[in-house]
Amino acid sequence: MQKLMIFIGLLFISLTTYAQPLPQESRVPGGIAIIPLTGIESSTPPSAWYKGNRVMVIPSQGSTHASESAWLAIAGIPLSAKPNQKQHLRANATSFYFEIEDKEYKAQHLTVKNKRHVDPDPEDIKRWRTEKAKMVAAFKHWSEPTAATTQFALPAQGPYSSPFGLKRFFNKQPRNPHSGLDIAAPHGDPIVAPSQGTVVDTGNYFFNGNTVILDHGFGLTTMYCHMSKIDVKIGDNVTTGDKLGEIGKTGRVTGPHLHWSVSLNNTRVDPTLFLAP
Ligand SMILES: [Zn+2]
Repeated sequence: MQKLMIFIGLLFISLTTYAQPLPQESRVPGGIAIIPLTGIESSTPPSAWYKGNRVMVIPSQGSTHASESAWLAIAGIPLSAKPNQKQHLRANATSFYFEIEDKEYKAQHLTVKNKRHVDPDPEDIKRWRTEKAKMVAAFKHWSEPTAATTQFALPAQGPYSSPFGLKRFFNKQPRNPHSGLDIAAPHGDPIVAPSQGTVVDTGNYFFNGNTVILDHGFGLTTMYCHMSKIDVKIGDNVTTGDKLGEIGKTGRVTGPHLHWSVSLNNTRVDPTLFLAP
């Protein structure tokens, strides 16, 4: 009996030590919903979909989320999601509904010197459309590594200069909301991988400048923009802390910084939700 108690004690310690940390849940536009897939008993992960995109599903056992169900869906909620509409997630043939709350993001006014970054020429627009298609293909990349990434280390050291979600105005004109987190750092400072992943895209883009996109598996991808130098190539496998390149000010910027985007199910979400609290 005593031996059994010690065994249970050790088991508990090992579970609490190694429990997989999950992203912080925040059921708002630009946030993350963690949905227990109650009633799905299958031994293999169910195939889950939300707004037409495949969604990450992980075993609930061994995670930090207390749940009776065997599987958890971890879904990114788009900034465009409407709080007054019930959200629908499908796993295998079962429907799950959840509600989201509204979140008021602040406005930010920026002045950029390059006028074409505010009013692009028809040629620039053509270029940007081609680039956007390439980036979306990278965000939609689906792979199934042995373990899911559910928490990140910071990819650069410096103050957060612009949070995720800001409503943006460039030279007084409204533009798309801020789809990532800006970290201000000196030109040439290292940018490192925040977890293990594979390089699925690199390029020099009109708005984003020199860019790297990593695939972490199960629909989770991250993007690094405005780099002065890229040190990786498509197909490279990286692990936490591996150098991806250096801080720069290429593309539409007001100064050197890293723009870091985190995408779940092809949906850009607040990167800070993936950082240890
Ligand atoms: Zn940014």
